Amino acid sequence: MSKSGYGLDRAELREAMVEEFCELVRIDAESGEEAELANVVAAKLRDLGFDVTQDDAGSKFGGNAGNVIGRLSGAPGYEPVLLSAHLDRVTPGKGIVPSIDGDRIVSGGDTVLAADDLGGVVAILAGIRMARAVRKQLPPLEVVFTVSEEKGLKGARHLNYSQIQSKMGYIFDASSPVGAVVVQSPTHISVDATITGRAAHAAVNPEGGISAIRVAADAISKFPFGRVDDQTTANIGIISGGRATNIVCEQVSFKGEVRSLDAERALSLAKEISDEIKTIAARYGASAEVTTPVDYYGFTISRDARVVKRAQKALAMSGREAVFESTMGGSDGNIFNTKGIESIVLGMGARDVHSTKECLPISELVAAGELARDLILAALDG
Ligand SMILES: [Zn+2]
Repeated sequence: MSKSGYGLDRAELREAMVEEFCELVRIDAESGEEAELANVVAAKLRDLGFDVTQDDAGSKFGGNAGNVIGRLSGAPGYEPVLLSAHLDRVTPGKGIVPSIDGDRIVSGGDTVLAADDLGGVVAILAGIRMARAVRKQLPPLEVVFTVSEEKGLKGARHLNYSQIQSKMGYIFDASSPVGAVVVQSPTHISVDATITGRAAHAAVNPEGGISAIRVAADAISKFPFGRVDDQTTANIGIISGGRATNIVCEQVSFKGEVRSLDAERALSLAKEISDEIKTIAARYGASAEVTTPVDYYGFTISRDARVVKRAQKALAMSGREAVFESTMGGSDGNIFNTKGIESIVLGMGARDVHSTKECLPISELVAAGELARDLILAALDG
């Protein structure tokens, strides 16, 4: 590919970014199967002068690849900055055939496009090349391309943090227009309940049984479904149990979740729910086992934080204004923030993600690349 696209000519830049994006989406990389793509992006980072390693994250959860970690020592005296995106895509994400439809890149309609998150990957690579084209020395950079983000942030959870020095991170993974700055994300807690009653013949000896379904129905009827308050949601999404219509059901399981922008609220609501399910089960003479593990903690980054100020400055360099967002979704940012890397998630322009209608406006792809460039350049100004 011609490197000239990363100079000043916008048409060439556009073409080079679209070409690289299409090259990467054609490489199959559903969660856990990122090896080939990881090798390709690692080689691209090496071409840009980065020291690149791959950690062993994948081996901890059955994936075939680890996270790709690239480091550029850069100009002395500057603090390193982390740029990140994830390599994996949701299903159906195999055999993607990207095509151009006006200003948008689309899939063939039978797969996702994987703009989530290859739009982020390509923006970071292009941003580095563009920064290179205008500055002899870049600041110290750490680029992390994670694996299995879509399967519960697994790559970020198992990332080798001893290799990361940055205290500030930018994650190109919000499916909002470029300019969006996600500064708040919820704490997410799972609710897993198993109700155990007593089996009996439903017609011959109904008195001998305790219906787990009846207990579960009562417990679920008390569950605070939906928007609990303006910062909190709750849902039960899976229910299973029962063997036959002539058996009083012995066991039912249901799974749900609680999310809140207020971590304390999430924890206390999960405890209330757990206690309530147990109390109701006991009332029927049944038992309930309830677990409420924290899947990830939320974050709230102050608008005065340096990581935010620098994003605003970088956006302003291309005449854009930051649009602050609070999300109820999780991302690698939730993990990075708990690991001491103050991180925000940036809009990279993809639309209708996680669906076969997913598309990426080319103007947004280019804008995301320019934002990555300007974040790098802004780091040289402190
Ligand atoms: Zn994503």
